[in-house]
Amino acid sequence: MSHYITKECIDCGVCLEACPTDSIIKGEKTHIIDADTCTDCTACVPLCPTDAIKKLTALVTKP
Ligand code: SF4
Ligand code: SF4
Repeated sequence: MSHYITKECIDCGVCLEACPTDSIIKGEKTHIIDADTCTDCTACVPLCPTDAIKKLTALVTKP
């Protein structure tokens, strides 16, 4: 699992500076988190002014 950035992102770039593993990159409309390198350290989460960084949990649950 990793963290991800929602469409609430306003491209401020604060999280990008804070990530110790350089997992945050500037995308076309929002910033994006590379799920392969994000360590779930949560350093970026409290810094986001729009609360756009969320923890990714299982999206599909089998019955
Ligand atoms: S949770 Fe940590 S490793 Fe993952 S994107 Fe945020 S600052 Fe980077
Ligand atoms: S801190 Fe939040 S609003 Fe700013 S670039 Fe990161 S995800 Fe987007």
